[in-house]
Amino acid sequence: MRYRIRKCIKCSRYTLQDRCPECGSETRIAHPPRFSPEDRYVKYRLIAKSILKKQ
Ligand SMILES: [Zn+2]
Repeated sequence: MRYRIRKCIKCSRYTLQDRCPECGSETRIAHPPRFSPEDRYVKYRLIAKSILKKQ
């Protein structure tokens, strides 16, 4: 399963929405951090999980 995680340009909140649910500002796609090929998406997935729990 793939998520399009977005990040608020103002308050840096992670969301899946085009607009930040906190401040209503524009969000941008948050790219997964590049550590090693194996855990490249681990943190990304954890963030996605926490977002899905909240919403
Ligand atoms: Zn915001």
